[in-house]
Amino acid sequence: MAAEEAVTTGLLEHPPTVRVELCTGCTQCLLTCPVGTIERRGLKCEIVPEGCIRCGRCLTVCPNEAVCKVNEPAPP
Ligand code: SF4
Ligand code: SF4
Repeated sequence: MAAEEAVTTGLLEHPPTVRVELCTGCTQCLLTCPVGTIERRGLKCEIVPEGCIRCGRCLTVCPNEAVCKVNEPAPP
């Protein structure tokens, strides 16, 4: 498996969440999630935490910093 395809499970302490006010619905997070636990909800995307393996991929691909770690303060 190529390095860019490697998935590290349990990297995050908790499943991340999407700040709906920052999400543009671009679906980059949905497309990159290796277990398909991100769903389209209307014009936004939402993480279904029960299926999340906490790999952190969605955090790195979001162009709008809309995906955040749980308890992380909103960007200024
Ligand atoms: S942390 Fe990984 S498994 Fe969880 S929603 Fe994001 S991309 Fe999917
Ligand atoms: S990558 Fe970010 S902006 Fe795009 S759908 Fe996911 S949370 Fe929303």
